[in-house]
Amino acid sequence: MNIVCACPNCSAGIYQSHVEKSVSLTCTACERSITIPDNAIQVTAEDAQPQLTRCLTCPSTELFVRKNFPQRLGVGIVVVGLAMSCVTWGYRDLFSTFAILFSTALLDVILFFVVPDCLTCYRCGSRYTGTDGMSEFGNFNLETHEKYRQQAAREQQSVRLS
Ligand SMILES: [Zn+2]
Ligand SMILES: [Zn+2]
Repeated sequence: MNIVCACPNCSAGIYQSHVEKSVSLTCTACERSITIPDNAIQVTAEDAQPQLTRCLTCPSTELFVRKNFPQRLGVGIVVVGLAMSCVTWGYRDLFSTFAILFSTALLDVILFFVVPDCLTCYRCGSRYTGTDGMSEFGNFNLETHEKYRQQAAREQQSVRLS
C-alpha cells in the first residue's frame, strides 16, 4: 500500500510505499515522523493486499474511492484539444477539427479506465493506493465532504480565537 499526503507539520508532500511494513511515516522535509495507528492496516492473507480501516495521518475513518488521476491533466487535455481545434477551424479544416475533438474525448475516456482507483480521506485529503476492500468505503459523498469542510473551518476559527 502506498500513501500520498501532506505533512501535518510543514505541509510538504509525503510519498511512502509499503506502508503496511513500517510503523511510521516520515516527512523528508522536516523529518517529523507520524506513527501509524494500531489496527489501521489489516492484512487478511499473506498474498492479499492490505486493507485500510481508517486514515493514517488524521483521526478520520471516512474515506472515498476516486480515480488516482490528476484533475489538471484531464482538464489540460481538453483545453489543448479545444485550442488545436480552433486553429484547424480557422483554416476551415473540418475533418481535422472533428478528428482532434474526437481523439481528445477518447483519450480522456481511455485514461479514465486505465488509471487505477485510490482511497482519499475526506478530512485531510491523504490518498492511498494498493489497498483491498476499497468498495467498502463507497464513492464521493457531498454531505460527508461538507461535514468535514465545516469542521475544518470551525477548527481554524477556534485556533484564531485562542
Ligand atoms: Zn514535514
Ligand atoms: Zn485523513
